[in-house]
Amino acid sequence: MKIRVQKFGGTSVATSERRERVVHHIRQALNEGCRVVAVVSAMGRKGDPYATDTLLDLVSENGESLSSREHDLLLSCGEIISASTLSSLLNREGIPNVVLTGGQAGIITNNRHTNAQILTINPTRVKNELEKGKVVVLAGFQGKTTDGEITTLGRGGSDTTATALGVAIEADIVDIFTDVEGIMTADPRIVEDASPLDAVTYSEICNLAFQGAKVIHPRAVELAMQTNVPIRVRSTMSDHPGTLVSSTHEKNQLAGEVSDRLITGITQVANVTQIKVPAGEGQYDLQLKVFKAMSENDISVDFININPSGVIYTVFDHEADQAEKILRSMDLTPSLMSGCAKVSVVGAGIAGVPGVMSKIAEALTEEDIPILQSADSHTTIWVLVPGENMVQAVRSLHRKFGLHKVQMMY
Ligand code: ASP
Ligand code: MG
Repeated sequence: MKIRVQKFGGTSVATSERRERVVHHIRQALNEGCRVVAVVSAMGRKGDPYATDTLLDLVSENGESLSSREHDLLLSCGEIISASTLSSLLNREGIPNVVLTGGQAGIITNNRHTNAQILTINPTRVKNELEKGKVVVLAGFQGKTTDGEITTLGRGGSDTTATALGVAIEADIVDIFTDVEGIMTADPRIVEDASPLDAVTYSEICNLAFQGAKVIHPRAVELAMQTNVPIRVRSTMSDHPGTLVSSTHEKNQLAGEVSDRLITGITQVANVTQIKVPAGEGQYDLQLKVFKAMSENDISVDFININPSGVIYTVFDHEADQAEKILRSMDLTPSLMSGCAKVSVVGAGIAGVPGVMSKIAEALTEEDIPILQSADSHTTIWVLVPGENMVQAVRSLHRKFGLHKVQMMY
């Protein structure tokens, strides 16, 4: 029995026109001979009548008066309304189906209300319904505790429902339907000729922050990665096959000339401040003092570089003033550069391949863009550039690595 999990996010079920597209995609999967579990989010975004944020607004006027247990009862309704609505559309089409809440689908969580973690899934009920030939319409973002209390999985948790259930029922593929055509080579608002990628690896999607994190919840990717269940990120509004997320890099390399696909995508994070703290003569414990102080004040640090002449790191702009005050109160003399941008060059194929950094340096030098700092891992090279150069940096790297030439494979 080939099982397909299809997850439809809030925007995908927001209007009746879109819900017709959902029915279309379900029918398509049935026609391909799959049994289907359709996981749905609450309909629409803030302001839409049954969206999660709208439900929250109902009680937020009353201060913090709702306990977290009742908060979960309230929020779980959004997904149940969405699932029931979809059920009626499937009935109209003569497609047998059954709606299950997270708890009814055997999703057992811990009791951390509002941000519960899935402990186990007993997929018996879902499997039985599928064997009866029914589409299982599953309310996303929720589960129940062993005591039967309803819980929710944290914002964006329907993705986790989909991949966790996909793992539990050994789905062939988990489709995440959303409002973009897939994972893009770059942010299309910055790079005009950015295109959807045919395939990426799990680790690449994690590094394509925040683009990756925006289209699919990182926890959902992590779950799929542990068990190798392939995910496809695709658009509800089209029949475009979207981006396949899996563990192998081979598909990536097939998608274009091999050299082109060394790099998968370029992403950026704006509004970061670089902090340089010079070390005093013979001062060897500077890093300890600095990072302990940052940690005690809950300031998260990134891009850390330690050498005998001092410590360099970044924080988000909005925490820079606080960080500076703390450092000065310790009699240190930091220099800060705010409004920088962290540009990431992501590609699972870069490990051990010479010349990637040189190409990055070439692209940026040609445009007179200074590199303030850099770091690398086996799938990513990060460079810190002045904020005013961010757009130009992303564009020139996109061009330099031939990403504008990536062709989709159908
Ligand atoms: N409806 C929930 C939220 O808005 C869960 C989800 O959409 O994944 O966070
Ligand atoms: Mg989402």
